[in-house]
Amino acid sequence: TEGRGVYRIYSAEMGAKLRRYHYLLDEMRQAIDSTNFFLTYQPVIDIDDFGISYFEALVRWQHPVEGTIAPDEFIPIAEDSNLILDLGDWILDEACRQMAAWYNAGMKKVRISVNVSPIQLKHKSLYDWIIKSLAKSGLPPHSLMLEITESCFIEASDELFNELEKLRADGVMIAIDDFGTGFSSLSVLAHLPVDVLKIDKLFVAEAIHNIKYKKILHSIVDMALKLELKVVAEGIENKEQLELLKTLGVKHIQGYLISRPQRSNYVGEKIFEQGI
Ligand code: C2E
Ligand code: CA
Ligand code: CA
Ligand code: CA
Repeated sequence: TEGRGVYRIYSAEMGAKLRRYHYLLDEMRQAIDSTNFFLTYQPVIDIDDFGISYFEALVRWQHPVEGTIAPDEFIPIAEDSNLILDLGDWILDEACRQMAAWYNAGMKKVRISVNVSPIQLKHKSLYDWIIKSLAKSGLPPHSLMLEITESCFIEASDELFNELEKLRADGVMIAIDDFGTGFSSLSVLAHLPVDVLKIDKLFVAEAIHNIKYKKILHSIVDMALKLELKVVAEGIENKEQLELLKTLGVKHIQGYLISRPQRSNYVGEKIFEQGI
């Protein structure tokens, strides 16, 4: 019967997926204490002169057998299991440590943006956590940016909003990540405690050949700029996309066209001449 057929597909595919899930979960438990994770850095640049505005830190898992595992596969597992709490502490400390090294080497305008998971926001007091890490590294608060996805803001508590405002008052920048994927209305932008709006790469990819996406992109950018938010477009892969975003008034871009995420030793020599 159809029921059995469906069940067979379910058991074969889901069985493999579940085994992989539990395998990676076990492996991750052991890996967090070791040196199997590392950060890569992808620049966000000024669209007019290609100067570096800041770097986004993106985590990688170097597994001894599986090779490099992408965050799209292991971050969701880390979130389900709350392992993201320990991993997230390591990510922030490592980003601050690297940034302090660059800062102390004379790059006073260095800024790194760190992705924060909704699970971290749920379990941690954001302000204390961030300020303590910054204090440990001796960095000024304006050297740090936090990327929080649009969907986190939709469910955000007043408490989270207060913590974000306190961080911003100290100089930490807040970016709303993956904007355009969370179904929040443009009018909520007026009330969000953020400095930077990151447009999801889906819009950049679609706007080139889909007029409706192009129009939505245009209104997002217009609205954000009117509200005096900095706009960053991610996922720029070709010149056509770059030209379109320039026409729409976007000042900051990120993507493979400029640079893939790279290990710190590759980006370390670059000079920081400007900030966002
Ligand atoms: P995200 O924060 O939206 O990061 C952007 C993703 O797009 C990154 O993938 C980046 O490498 C990729 N990307 C950059 N330029 C291009 C481009 O031109 N074309 C395309 N197709 N992709 C581009 P990555 O590094 O694999 O990370 C995937 C997601 O995993 C991130 O999406 C973020 O949600 C999560 N993630 C990565 N690192 C961290 C982290 O340190 N902490 C947390 N909580 N999540 C992380
Ligand atoms: Ca991000
Ligand atoms: Ca994104
Ligand atoms: Ca994302």
